[in-house]
Amino acid sequence: MRPAHAVIDLDALRHNYRLARELGGGKALAIVKADAYGHGAVRCAQALAAEADGFGVACIEEALELRQAGITAPIVLLEGCFEADELALVVAHDLWPVVSTPEQVQALCEWRGEAALTVWLKLDSGMHRLGLDPVQFRAAHARLSALPQVAQIVMMSHFARADELDSPRTAEQLAVFAAATAGLAGQTSLCNSPALLGWPQVRSDWARPGLMLYGADPFAQATATSAGLRPVMTLRSKIIAVRELAAGEPLGYGARFVAQAPTRVGVVAMGYADGYPQFAPNGTPVLIDGVRGQLIGRVSMDMLTVDLTSHPQAGVGSAVELWGSDIRLAELAPLCATSAYRLPCGLKRVPRQYQG
Ligand SMILES: *Cc1c(COP(=O)(O)O)cnc(C)c1O
Repeated sequence: MRPAHAVIDLDALRHNYRLARELGGGKALAIVKADAYGHGAVRCAQALAAEADGFGVACIEEALELRQAGITAPIVLLEGCFEADELALVVAHDLWPVVSTPEQVQALCEWRGEAALTVWLKLDSGMHRLGLDPVQFRAAHARLSALPQVAQIVMMSHFARADELDSPRTAEQLAVFAAATAGLAGQTSLCNSPALLGWPQVRSDWARPGLMLYGADPFAQATATSAGLRPVMTLRSKIIAVRELAAGEPLGYGARFVAQAPTRVGVVAMGYADGYPQFAPNGTPVLIDGVRGQLIGRVSMDMLTVDLTSHPQAGVGSAVELWGSDIRLAELAPLCATSAYRLPCGLKRVPRQYQG
């Protein structure tokens, strides 16, 4: 059997969820969109089911997968309904749609159903992706509040630059939110992971942690708070072949690495088709039998190569960790011109093993 696999530590997931909720000081919506950032949405939601206040997903398909797996907690559709006829399913499965466009407001006004919905009304406080502008927001709040088909409104917004601790933008967005919601009834929801970890002055009734649940640090430099996160995914494989290169010999596609001196090379069963970053440069850290080493040569579809020159004990069968507790996503991502969000999301083909 191919030794490539990802270990998912569900105890770590619960630890991170509790940390997020504690930091937020209210309820916390565990964001499990995109298959829980590659960690497996059903298994992660089940692991949190006993304590999570609710879950957040990107679309109704993701929500129904959770409902079919027996998840009964509230589920927020972060982008709302893509088509008006989804509202019937939303009601049938007790989902909470975000309403962030004039079209979604209109669809809700025209909808006639039995049950009354909880909707999350989204303000564009400065990210300029989804959300109503302040004037539209207040008008929509008044209009929706008057509808029998709307039971309650949670007022939300999303930060564009909360991961930049020196940017004034988060405070500016917060001020826009405060002004736009002044005097309006309803709970609030503001914080994503970087806001929870880095902006203690920004708080709301519902936090929306995603990345931090999986133990990845959204900041380039860990803070005292983010250092308390426990990585959830460890990506592992083994060395499947070893060879010696003489000085001057090239390694792999494109001869990106050429040995300057005699070099012992290990071939690892892990490639870009598994989700390992294809453009990881020479020198990218890997853990070989528990000791830090480095990647050399271009990453191929199913394999990659590592330098074993200073790992004389390592050989065929040696364990290799590509990311996890030692090689943190926050360290790896910038080296590979990607993000800590993208790396686990890109996981493919590799079987996941659950612990805890
Ligand atoms: C994905 C998402 C989140 C979670 O963001 P993280 O940075 O992963 O914590 C929160 N809110 C909304 C609206 C999202 O789309």
